[in-house]
Amino acid sequence: MTEPLIRTVALARRYQMGKSAVDALCGVDLEIMSGEFVALVGPSGSGKSTLLHLIGGLVRPTGGEVWVGGLELGRSTDRQLVAYRRDTLGFIFQSFNLLPIKAAWENVAVPMMLSGVPPARRKGRALEILDQVGLGHRGDHRPAELSGGEQQRVAIARSLANSPRLILADEPTGNLDSRTGGEIMALLRRLVRDEGRTLLLVTHDMGVARYADRIVHLRDGVVERLELNDAAAVPDQVDGVAR
Ligand code: ADP
Repeated sequence: MTEPLIRTVALARRYQMGKSAVDALCGVDLEIMSGEFVALVGPSGSGKSTLLHLIGGLVRPTGGEVWVGGLELGRSTDRQLVAYRRDTLGFIFQSFNLLPIKAAWENVAVPMMLSGVPPARRKGRALEILDQVGLGHRGDHRPAELSGGEQQRVAIARSLANSPRLILADEPTGNLDSRTGGEIMALLRRLVRDEGRTLLLVTHDMGVARYADRIVHLRDGVVERLELNDAAAVPDQVDGVAR
């Protein structure tokens, strides 16, 4: 039997605020297999971002366990977590988080500085990845010269720079109109499928969640429901036209 890539066991996170405490997650048991595309949905405050950040090694658990590919993040050293994030993860954010004074290709190359890609190979590799997201011709443009959808494509290309096994996306279409958001979702879905990557995505938008293979519904810090989803029912959109 194949091992899950991600496994959480009674995973909990409490935030202490002075004398009061907030239980952002209170015992989540979840398994995500390699190659799966999973959407985390739930009302605001249900613990989606906390779960994503725990799996991203950005926040430590206050209870339970979070395993990714054989590493228990709660018991890992800071150094192990830095290596884990560099070698295993790609991050995509709602607000793109691009460096404004850098060209698109330089933004894509940022993670390569940490992973030891020789400087002479970075531009070529960055342009190759930009080509995969349909922006090979925009490599020398700065973010301000690109549309929102194009900026998110650059951010997706950056998340792929070190060939991560796992991509974590926090409301990646939140700043985009619905048509551009649909194009970005179709692109993400294709990229993870073609290369066998795993994608875990937080969204409050069920239209976005419908691109996933499985939908995890969170409420009040626990898994309320797991839903298998027929992602094939959502066609890729090109210029607003299904194909
Ligand atoms: P969601 O992403 O579903 O909106 P979050 O994971 O951001 O939910 O938050 C879950 C709960 O934990 C909320 O009540 C939120 O206020 C609280 N919380 C999240 N991060 C912190 C923090 N750094 N400090 C204190 N409380 C937090």
